[in-house]
Amino acid sequence: MAKAAQGQPTRVVLLGPPGAGKGTQANAIASRLEVPHISTGDIFRRAIEEGSDLGLVARAHMVSGELVPDGITMTMVSRRLGEEDASKGFLLDGFPRNVDQARYLDETLRRSGDVVELVLELHVPAEDIVRRLSGRRMCGQCGRSWHVEFNPTRVEGICDTCAGSLHQREDDHQDSVRRRLELHERETAPLAGYYQDKGVLSRVDAVGTVEVVSERVLAVLIAHSAGSRAEATPSQR
Ligand SMILES: [Zn+2]
Repeated sequence: MAKAAQGQPTRVVLLGPPGAGKGTQANAIASRLEVPHISTGDIFRRAIEEGSDLGLVARAHMVSGELVPDGITMTMVSRRLGEEDASKGFLLDGFPRNVDQARYLDETLRRSGDVVELVLELHVPAEDIVRRLSGRRMCGQCGRSWHVEFNPTRVEGICDTCAGSLHQREDDHQDSVRRRLELHERETAPLAGYYQDKGVLSRVDAVGTVEVVSERVLAVLIAHSAGSRAEATPSQR
């Protein structure tokens, strides 16, 4: 009852390419909706720390730079969704990453009479992401992250904080950023299509500062709440 009155979506999936600021937005959305932020990265990390069987298998794949197989990921996510705090909702980040996983998620939720209510897709043009990621520089000494364009050091290549020398992560080289983006696009374009067909997909322009993007996300959440109230009345849009 409270849920209907409030009208906010509580079962939300967040999609977006690497470098779109997904983690930051995910935290903001989860606290706004008062639901747990569930990311596959955290689930894997926890399972590995606990030394569970699934954690060990997941780790073996991650160490060799492979994706954790669907079956293992799905089992771990479904267990996590069965925990108490997720019973009132969740914000999923990093899952589903393909249509098979999306179908599995639907099937899992259906058992408790739930559905994915909203899928937010953060959209950033590929060229912007290449600029964002390929300009990053890390301090080898204190670990601080800088950006040649958006957050430069006073002296090129030298950390302002500790005078350590800066380096670029292998992952952030232009070629490797483009490769990651292509892979992401190939995997998630069908996924976005899947959710679009279900009428739950909302694209959010994620170019801009964290605050500006947060505002846009918030606007979608509010519009969605208003929309679900409108649908509850006899006179539909
Ligand atoms: Zn430093």
